Amino acid sequence: MSEATKSTVRTRFAPSPTGFAHAGVFRTALFSWLLARKHGGQFLLRIEDTDQVRLVPGSLEHLLRSMKALGLDYDEGPDQKSVALLSEKYGACDPNLLPEDGGKFGPYFQSQRLTRYSEVVEGLLESGKAYFAFETREELDQQRKISDALKRPFLYNRHYREYSLEDARKRVNSGEAHVVRLKMPTEGSIVTRDVLHGEQKWDATTQDDFIILKADGFPPYHLAAMVDDHDMEITHVLRGDEWLSSFPKHWCLFQALGWEPPQFAHVPNVMGPDGKKLSKRHGALPILGAPEMGKDGLLTGNESPGFLDDEGFLPEALVNYLALIGWSPGDDREIMPLEELTQAFSLDGVGRSGGIFDAEKLAWMNGKYLRALTPDAYTKATWPFLEKAGADLSDRMLVQALLPLEQEKIKKLSEAPATVDYLLLDSPEYVEKSVQKYLKVPGAGAYLAAIAEALETLETWTPEVIESTCRTVGAAHDRDKGEVTHPIRVALTGREIGPSLFETIAVLGKERLARRFGKAKELAHG
Ligand code: GLU
Repeated sequence: MSEATKSTVRTRFAPSPTGFAHAGVFRTALFSWLLARKHGGQFLLRIEDTDQVRLVPGSLEHLLRSMKALGLDYDEGPDQKSVALLSEKYGACDPNLLPEDGGKFGPYFQSQRLTRYSEVVEGLLESGKAYFAFETREELDQQRKISDALKRPFLYNRHYREYSLEDARKRVNSGEAHVVRLKMPTEGSIVTRDVLHGEQKWDATTQDDFIILKADGFPPYHLAAMVDDHDMEITHVLRGDEWLSSFPKHWCLFQALGWEPPQFAHVPNVMGPDGKKLSKRHGALPILGAPEMGKDGLLTGNESPGFLDDEGFLPEALVNYLALIGWSPGDDREIMPLEELTQAFSLDGVGRSGGIFDAEKLAWMNGKYLRALTPDAYTKATWPFLEKAGADLSDRMLVQALLPLEQEKIKKLSEAPATVDYLLLDSPEYVEKSVQKYLKVPGAGAYLAAIAEALETLETWTPEVIESTCRTVGAAHDRDKGEVTHPIRVALTGREIGPSLFETIAVLGKERLARRFGKAKELAHG
């Protein structure tokens, strides 16, 4: 197995802060995290912020909070000092989210590593593996138009490839706008190696002398990420397979620099239910609620609800679910807590086709995790959702007792307030249809009065005793099954469906019960 051959596995998550990271991005990050953790290696966070124009303030803090919420802790990455230096661009960021010292390969922001990139580019220029090019945007557009007319993919015409470095430097020193391009092979094949895709041959004539230093002095991803992966001693680069087509560029760059490439694994992307790749602009599904970005990359003014804080999925369920998009343990296990995932994870189990994000499957899995919580843990997880929904939480004991009654049924915590709020109200809101069916019928008033009286005098207050009392009264009134319970439920809760009736009665207690029966009697028929 390829990943086990290295003594130290070092992986990284390298997001660009150009928007609010979504579930798909975290799925790939999770694979990297699992691989590192499985082998007792290191997981790094590196912020790829060379595209300064598209930088979205607030996205860094959102990213860090999301990682923390999912439990994706990093061994090396942004620290308090480096983030403070960038606060003007990124906005304030809670220092508690950051370590004091990011690690010995820092800084972990590409915008703070520019000197290193220049140094690498300089080396490539000096060794004749790269060259300055001086075309203006208009000239390149012209070339592009010709390619379009000929229906050929655009490839730069390599005009400056053999231009003397000395002359080029004079033009650069005189302030002329320029870029630096890598000399790619012009014939034969480029053979790349990927853990998932194996060896692939790329026809050199289809490859461009691509830019490794842009006119604004910043390196593009193609250079910066490779330099960092090398310098940070990354052993396994897991990234979305949208990068596969650029892979020959990266491979040749490693060769030009005489560096051994890390193992690359281009992993299948996460698709939305419509079969399209999730992106910051398409069907974004943030881990934590985030401003929504429109197709134009601008904020729409709306918020996309977050999985954890708005929808109420448990982090452990979400992590479990994400791990299974594009990866399989090789058997039919589905419920796999983090420790089990970590043990089982291997690149061998990663498929080559994109996995679909299936919200229903996630909800099913979340339901399983919710049911496994102890009543205490369930209450704790539910509390913020109750608060947000404005539920009356003044009687903490009551809320705590009511909550687990529905634990079996809900799939996400955001559904919890609706399961208890009507039980917390002093008088429930009555569903008219149910009232007509069960209360406004002959005999209902007398039956409820008898139930109320029987319960009132009970000394042992347990669901079992309450049940047998109700059934005895029901039998005395010639009622069977549903006819026993439905009127009581409607009288007490206003509706026909709800958690176990006798447990609900037990939890509500005599006083509340008396008030509710009082109100129901006003509605009931004789
Ligand atoms: N900054 C790149 C992105 O966000 C990272 C790709 C990679 O993992 O190399 O797409």
